[in-house]
Amino acid sequence: MRVELVNTGTELLLGDTVNTNAAWIGQRLAALGVQVQRQTIVPDGAVIRVAIAEAAQRADVVLVSGGLGPTNDDLTRESTAELLSLPLELDDGVMAHLHDYFSKRGKPVSEATKRQAMVPRGAQVMPNPCGSAPGLYLPATLGGFLGWNAHIFLLPGPPRELEPMFKNEVEPHLRAWLPDGASRRVLYLKVTGVGESDIVEAVEKRLECVPGLDLGYCIRKGDVDVRLSGGESNVNAGAGIVREAFGDCIVSEDRRIIEEVIVQLLAERGEQVTTAESCTGGTIASRITDVSGSSHVFGHGWVTYANEAKQQQLGVPLTLIEKHGAVSQEVARAMAEGALNNSGADHALAVTGIAGPAGGTAEKPVGTVWIAQASKLAETWTVRRFFPGMRDRFKLLTSQAALDLLRRRLCGLKPRA
Ligand code: ATP
Ligand code: MG
Repeated sequence: MRVELVNTGTELLLGDTVNTNAAWIGQRLAALGVQVQRQTIVPDGAVIRVAIAEAAQRADVVLVSGGLGPTNDDLTRESTAELLSLPLELDDGVMAHLHDYFSKRGKPVSEATKRQAMVPRGAQVMPNPCGSAPGLYLPATLGGFLGWNAHIFLLPGPPRELEPMFKNEVEPHLRAWLPDGASRRVLYLKVTGVGESDIVEAVEKRLECVPGLDLGYCIRKGDVDVRLSGGESNVNAGAGIVREAFGDCIVSEDRRIIEEVIVQLLAERGEQVTTAESCTGGTIASRITDVSGSSHVFGHGWVTYANEAKQQQLGVPLTLIEKHGAVSQEVARAMAEGALNNSGADHALAVTGIAGPAGGTAEKPVGTVWIAQASKLAETWTVRRFFPGMRDRFKLLTSQAALDLLRRRLCGLKPRA
């Protein structure tokens, strides 16, 4: 099914409003196994008509957002009626809805608003319980005389109005039109700690051999999402290939990010984690506390940037720092074990590294980091990693690697070599 999106609104082009409708609709369609073929943004005004006409020549379904309101620049309804040579007729049902909607707000229905009750002949009204302007569905037959075969849906611009309307009024049509709608599926395998090119090298050739499987990659927050879409059995075959190659690097298969996975694992076990961070300056704690429900699994952590703080707060012996340097396996281990003992938590994560751009040496270049993970009644793990680059990226990747170490502990896996 070829679907095109036309988003209207001058504010979208000025950058005053971010086009979240396109992203939201894109995700909803992807979940149905449909990929938007093309997305066009046009300013308010007559050009809307051109954009809809162009899209309708190519697509089976054209989704239009915005411009259904009462103001002069809201022209989507009129432009579409003109395009399809349809007269606009007053719809009693919509008029009743407008009276009801405004009387509940203690206001009369203005003349400008009455325009919203005008419906192109042959169009179906899509109710808008969250706003005044109804949506409109123009079946493909209405454009047949122009040689088109596109179903056109006009949706309101405000996301809180568009989203429920799309779910309740548009998606049922799309499902019915999809050839094997029920069996199409999209699966996201979130892989961490492996670069995109390594993933491609390891699995792409094999995945390409699975017939009817669409494949995509998206890098986000230190992970790579491998997106598999297609028929149920093809997606399962593809997922099997990715799992075989990267099993213990797969953080989730339901789009949850690593901190969400960790908070859930800790909550299920009734356990807590604490953090002792140097070079990440609190990023790990921040990421954990971004997750709702984290108060059950995280009580407090430390940001011990200076050597004195590592000594005073975590009990790291000065001799250890002097002998091995603050960025060392020994100090990372002492930080994690100190945090574990001082906090009463069940697990601790510690990081110490050189974010740069200054401070590197030949032996410990900028980007070097030691990460330690300590747990009660278990051997402490330490790993050395190297993330050269900008400071923010260094912090992100270091926090990601630390969180992954904890995930591996909680899942009964081993640290990555
Ligand atoms: P209204 O009745 O509110 O005027 P409308 O259907 O005419 O609704 P617009 O006037 O185009 O829609 O947009 C109204 C508001 O909805 C915008 O100011 C913006 O806040 C939001 N909006 C519109 N389009 C988008 C979009 N593509 N993504 C996110 N928000 C949007
Ligand atoms: Mg408007």
